[in-house]
Amino acid sequence: MEEKKEEQSEKMLNFVEAIVESDIAEGKCKNGIYTRFPPEPNGYLHIGHAKSICLNFGIAKKYGGKTNIRFDDTNPVKEDVEYVDSIKEDVKWLGFEWNEEHYASDYFEQLYQWAIDLIKQGKAYVDNSSQEEISKNRGVPTAPGIESPYRNRSVEENLDLFQRMRAGEFPDGYCVLRAKIDMASPNMHMRDPIMYRILHATHHRTGDKWCIYPMYDYAHGQSDSIEGITHSICTLEFEVHRPLYDWFCENLHIHHPQQVEFARLNVNYTVMSKRKLLQLVKEGYVSSWDDPRMPTICGFRRRGYTPASIRNFAETIGVAKRENVIDISLLEFCVREDLNKHALRTMAVLNPVKLVIDNYPEGQVEMMDAVNNPEDASAGTRKVPFSKYLWIERDDFMENPPKKFFRLAIGQEVRLKYAYIIRCDSIEKDEQGEVKLIHCTYFPETRSGSAESNRKVKGTIHWLSVDHCQTAEVRLFDRLFSVPEPDNVEEGHTFLENLNPDSLKVVSAYVEPAFIDTNYLAKYQFERIGYFCIDKDSTPEKLVFNRTVTLKDSWAKMQK
Ligand code: ATP
Ligand code: MG
Repeated sequence: MEEKKEEQSEKMLNFVEAIVESDIAEGKCKNGIYTRFPPEPNGYLHIGHAKSICLNFGIAKKYGGKTNIRFDDTNPVKEDVEYVDSIKEDVKWLGFEWNEEHYASDYFEQLYQWAIDLIKQGKAYVDNSSQEEISKNRGVPTAPGIESPYRNRSVEENLDLFQRMRAGEFPDGYCVLRAKIDMASPNMHMRDPIMYRILHATHHRTGDKWCIYPMYDYAHGQSDSIEGITHSICTLEFEVHRPLYDWFCENLHIHHPQQVEFARLNVNYTVMSKRKLLQLVKEGYVSSWDDPRMPTICGFRRRGYTPASIRNFAETIGVAKRENVIDISLLEFCVREDLNKHALRTMAVLNPVKLVIDNYPEGQVEMMDAVNNPEDASAGTRKVPFSKYLWIERDDFMENPPKKFFRLAIGQEVRLKYAYIIRCDSIEKDEQGEVKLIHCTYFPETRSGSAESNRKVKGTIHWLSVDHCQTAEVRLFDRLFSVPEPDNVEEGHTFLENLNPDSLKVVSAYVEPAFIDTNYLAKYQFERIGYFCIDKDSTPEKLVFNRTVTLKDSWAKMQK
């Protein structure tokens, strides 16, 4: 029995957890588990980052450890405080609290001193070769590269030149500092990688203090080391960088974190590279980084996604060792599941047609009891006004219905949700032949909740009282791209050609006269339609709703 239990929990571990557990068992993590989330502040976070955040914070939480947030700000040209602020907001919104907040730029002085240390050990040199020469001489993996003519400079000369690089004596690109490793290594990253480049650029935190900046590979591991990180979790493309990560730690004789790689998250019907997302914003294909169609965390937030739904998504997809593409429907499933539990119900008519109950007294108004959330009794009930003239969805009536159409048709009965059973008697059409008025009869004894309300009909539809409802703007979002792999384009084409021209449809809809909450992001289920939230453009005078997701997976149906 015991054994079985153990076997089971063993099975449930993902491979990162398995590594962590074996490191703990080997006594490698005496001070506890320490992870970090290391974004470069050159854009807003996307759903792929959410995966990394959940993984890093999740591992630390599971093993009683800690997680830092560290801004990998080694490229002053593309970075900005706007991004730093948005990243912090997004991580917090997802529900995580970091232990310490750091910036790679805080370590510039220490990194510089360590570079001097490597020069003194004869393990780094200043190279005056041009960028092109360096690339060319690095060669190809199957044959050794060519050593730079500057490779064997003396320690003194290197120290002098490196100090002068820092002092600003040389223009951009004049020379670089390289690690002296192995120009014949089959791993190209070990062929004397560049550690520092000259860049006379103003940094968003260090201003003009520095004109040399460390490369990612030189800064990242050492930053991890300074912070006492035990497991440096990163995406698969860094697997080939690991020997270099290890080389720096070993040759500097500093704390040596374990780099662990996992497969990056890819989701279909979207693009995830920050460069492309920036292009969508800059060129106006979307309104902003938080356009509800964007795969950014702030986009999902504005769309009505909840932190729990994103965390559940990250949990459900697990941690993979191989690249794969996750179906966006899974994310939609996760948000539906969460909103079903928490969203308040309300009625809205998006594509209205008028209905009159001929035998209902003119001017009479009844307040019907409606349930705010059938999944949560504590959400209570509300009153919805009912009268002779109603709006219903145009789709809920058919003149020539197929057999299993259980909604309204001439001679057919339906229940008006929270109200009465009605029968459709006749219709009126306009000059274009469109139905403009549906005549019905109601049965007073069938009022919902009354003793005689047991009579069963096959269909229930929602409605709003014409004289009591209010109008609202409703933004119906669909996928931003119309093909599963928008990035996958032939030479000479761009992912922009795959944008879905119908990704946004704005309609003027009727909604209930009163809402419990009209604050930004308040979440509702429009009964029988989908999940919606209040947009930030909404005002008390003019409500604006965003469709988060439809009730059912309509896309999957269309594909069949
Ligand atoms: P992009 O290529 O979109 O610009 P990036 O990897 O350059 O992304 P960073 O800001 O450097 O973005 O990433 C911060 C952390 O998030 C890194 O540890 C990175 O590996 C991780 N990350 C980025 N994209 C994904 C993804 N699609 N899936 C999982 N983790 C990701
Ligand atoms: Mg990056």
